[in-house]
Amino acid sequence: MSTPLDRMADFDLDEAQREVRETVREFAEKELLPHVEQHEREARYPIELIAKLPALGLLGPLIPERWGGSFSDVLTYGVICEELARVDWVIASVVSVANSLVGSAIVAHGDDAQKDRWLPRIAAGEVLCSACLTEPGGGTDLANMQTTATRVDGGWRLDGTKVFISHAAHAGLFFVVASIDREQKQGGVTAFLVDPVHTDGIEIGEFPMRTLQRDNLAEVHFAGAVVPDDAVLGEPGRGFPVLGSSLDMGRFSIAARCVGQAQRCIDLALPYARERRAFGQAIGEFQLIQQKLSDMTCRTQAARALVYQLGRMKDAGVARASMEASMAKLMASRAAVDNALDAIQIHGGYGLSAEYEVGRLLLEAKALEFTEGTSELHTKLIAEYMLGTRRQ
Ligand SMILES: Cc1cc2nc3c(=O)[nH]c(=O)nc-3n(C[C@H](O)[C@H](O)[C@H](O)COP(=O)(O)OP(=O)(O)OC[C@H]3O[C@@H](n4cnc5c(N)ncnc54)[C@H](O)[C@@H]3O)c2cc1C
Repeated sequence: MSTPLDRMADFDLDEAQREVRETVREFAEKELLPHVEQHEREARYPIELIAKLPALGLLGPLIPERWGGSFSDVLTYGVICEELARVDWVIASVVSVANSLVGSAIVAHGDDAQKDRWLPRIAAGEVLCSACLTEPGGGTDLANMQTTATRVDGGWRLDGTKVFISHAAHAGLFFVVASIDREQKQGGVTAFLVDPVHTDGIEIGEFPMRTLQRDNLAEVHFAGAVVPDDAVLGEPGRGFPVLGSSLDMGRFSIAARCVGQAQRCIDLALPYARERRAFGQAIGEFQLIQQKLSDMTCRTQAARALVYQLGRMKDAGVARASMEASMAKLMASRAAVDNALDAIQIHGGYGLSAEYEVGRLLLEAKALEFTEGTSELHTKLIAEYMLGTRRQ
């Protein structure tokens, strides 16, 4: 059933963007939703569902058409991420890693050969992507990277370990950051495009999680993995600017995904509040339940407004919108977590039963609070931009 919030969500989208929302929503509800709970219980990676994405152009929404993608505008990409995440965290993650982190970095910093080699295969679903950034010593302080890239004849040798790597066991392309000079901190960081299938010295280990069993996150060990010179994305030692631009876009897509998850909590809590009865009336008639529904609605739309504005800034050609990306990511991930908590509360004890989706949504929302920068990091960044001690 549509709500007044749907009208607000669509209000300043154009006809084409609304159509994309409708198409992706229908696809997600029909093709993805019936399988999500089962995949989670069976810890099964949704490879058959991923295979359905290219036909709708959903694996290349940030990749220009000349490389087989379906790019129209950044806001449309946000709507796609929102609608996929409303139903399935993992499918939304496949799309956002491939596009925001990897695809957009190749579009912005790749040479012609790198673009021709990788972009059409990403858009066609021939290779899935992983971003290998986080290390066991910490993900927030990326400049303190321990993974090294050492010059060897004709290329670079990678050594080190990355953890929490989504999709790694299924990926055909790794976007890896490693340091060519650890003394230089961020000045040593270099970005590489690595083919994990045809490169010796890469081992993928288990990384068990309490949530997202169907994503099977992995540890990736590089032990003398030699990659050719043309694996460097951008310039050696200039990985931070590559990372910076893709993290901006990554934060946009994570924030859009959070809006989708926050919206899903409303979609589930509203009918429950109408139908569940206590003391002879629907629980939705109690003011304390109404308070939660009202908070959930306001949070979701406030977060959506930040996300859509960021998308429009990108579409207007603003190259770096880092403060806006931090604001959108911070507020949207809070909305996703808080909405999941409220939705669970509205469901009472059933909120934590396996029969209802809302319990799973809480841990999945919490995961989004860490990826692409924690809430603490974004809080700090926003304050620094405002104080003028950090520039976009
Ligand atoms: C489900 C999931 C999927 C993920 N997928 C990927 C992936 O595909 N690729 C990848 O590379 N990584 C991935 N990550 C890792 C994620 O990016 C990291 O968890 C995140 O960067 C935080 O790093 P950390 O966990 O090492 O925490 P730490 O960096 O150790 O931080 C610990 C705590 O200290 C706080 N903190 C750190 N620095 C400061 C500071 N300056 N001021 C205040 N507080 C601070 C943090 O906010 C946090 O609360 C994933 C994580 C999850 C949960």
